[in-house]
Amino acid sequence: MTTGKLHLWINGQRVQSQGSRMGDVFNPATGEVIRQVPLADRNDIDAAVAAARAAFPAWRETTPSRRARILTRFRELMEQHRDELARLASEEHGKTLADAAGSVQRGIEVIEFASGVPHLLKGEQAEDVGRGVDCHSLLQPVGVCAGITPFNFPAMVPLWMFPVAIACGNTFVLKPSEKVPSCSLRMAELFKEAGLPDGVLNVVPGDKEAVDALLDHPDVGAISFVGSTPVAQHIYETAARNGKRVQALGGAKNHAVVMPDADMDFTADALVGAAYGSAGERCMAISTVVAVGEAGDALLRLLRDKAAQIRVGRGDAAEVGMGPVISAAHRDRIVGLIDSGVALGAELVLDGRGIEVAGGEHGFFVGPTLFDRVRPEMDIYREEIFGPVLIVLRADSYDDAVRLINANPYGNGTAIFTGSGHWARRFENKIEVGMVGVNVPIPVPMAFFSFGGWKASLFGDLHMHGMEGVYFYTRTKVVTCRWPAPAERTGSTLAMPTLG
Ligand code: NAD
Repeated sequence: MTTGKLHLWINGQRVQSQGSRMGDVFNPATGEVIRQVPLADRNDIDAAVAAARAAFPAWRETTPSRRARILTRFRELMEQHRDELARLASEEHGKTLADAAGSVQRGIEVIEFASGVPHLLKGEQAEDVGRGVDCHSLLQPVGVCAGITPFNFPAMVPLWMFPVAIACGNTFVLKPSEKVPSCSLRMAELFKEAGLPDGVLNVVPGDKEAVDALLDHPDVGAISFVGSTPVAQHIYETAARNGKRVQALGGAKNHAVVMPDADMDFTADALVGAAYGSAGERCMAISTVVAVGEAGDALLRLLRDKAAQIRVGRGDAAEVGMGPVISAAHRDRIVGLIDSGVALGAELVLDGRGIEVAGGEHGFFVGPTLFDRVRPEMDIYREEIFGPVLIVLRADSYDDAVRLINANPYGNGTAIFTGSGHWARRFENKIEVGMVGVNVPIPVPMAFFSFGGWKASLFGDLHMHGMEGVYFYTRTKVVTCRWPAPAERTGSTLAMPTLG
């Protein structure tokens, strides 16, 4: 396991930053600084983009089948190193080993999807679009693409981006979260071992300075971002102003509607996993339950009993269900929001403030917290808490529940729990959210579908991975061809040609 001082990864080599700024990487379970990470400056970004630009012509000329073979070897290496990556993710983020391993696996599935790139890049073709005229489309790479990723999925979210971009013939500069840099650096080494040419993937940990240098850089053609909504909006506006294509995924406030006809025990189990898994630090976590009619009282009792049983501790300890949150500042913000919920009159059913964890006295822990009778004007409803706090609102009817969700500024994920196909179908049809679960609390699409929200959860048009990822990382070129025999040649015409 890496200790001490980390590095940047540029042109297939570990390199030191040209600047002097360093960041602390913590183990959130102990509160200790476990290593230091260089914070890339503009010169480092210039070097990474120059390496990616230099590698682009040869990588673009590498056939999709050859690229796919390298991706397949990378996938095999990732499987072999899955536990090592899970340990790194757990150590720097705090999530449990089982949860970390699951998220690495979901990332590996994107490599698997991207390995099918010869098929994915086929484009469209039509014969005789006019008399003797055929037409086909080509999907060609954009050039140098950049990715900027959040702390909460140290391996999976970078894997949403770079395997697809690279499979499509682009080269890539990844700026992982400075809080969890080790997985990205390790994955770059494994990709090189799989045969990836130097310069195709570069990793530059850093903060706002590195991000702004990428957004301003004239040689970066596309920016993918995942993180909080205010930063997503800044990325989207700046990158678009600078003429880049951009997809910027933002924050979330995911609601689950529970109808009175739902199987309450099954629903409570699903909601407890979705609310408190990864200490609530998932963009698809269920943070808000809308209990319709008489569903509320029975559900509340079950949620309280099940949440109270969650064992909190170090992510690498056996039988622990929930680890710490990412930082002391984040813990304090969550505790402040719980305080505000109490002050504004929400009913605190389970209180995670001040939890004591043996061996984790200096760790960043908040225990499972549950609120009932929350109202939409309260801060705990309006803000993304991004911690182990589940809030329950009561709604008189299905229509009230749907109105509440559709009025919320976020639109990442949502779910309905019901025994009725009627409610489920209406929900699927009318809800203004990008990813919807029916009796599935965290409806994260598989790699061959696309991942993305609506409204303030996504700035841009195209989602990540699936075919939308392929379209984001390629430019479409449409070619119209005619091969007339001498007798078929017509003279010039000044009117708009209609090929009928
Ligand atoms: P963040 O927005 O603070 O940071 C994300 C990235 O942006 C990091 O690499 C960070 O270094 C960089 N960054 C931070 N502040 C910046 C600034 N002012 N200018 C330029 N760059 C900046 O997010 P986070 O705290 O790392 O992650 C948690 C957030 O990410 C939550 O809001 C969560 O909902 C969201 N998230 C969304 C999805 C999704 O798919 N929609 C997935 C995972 C996480």
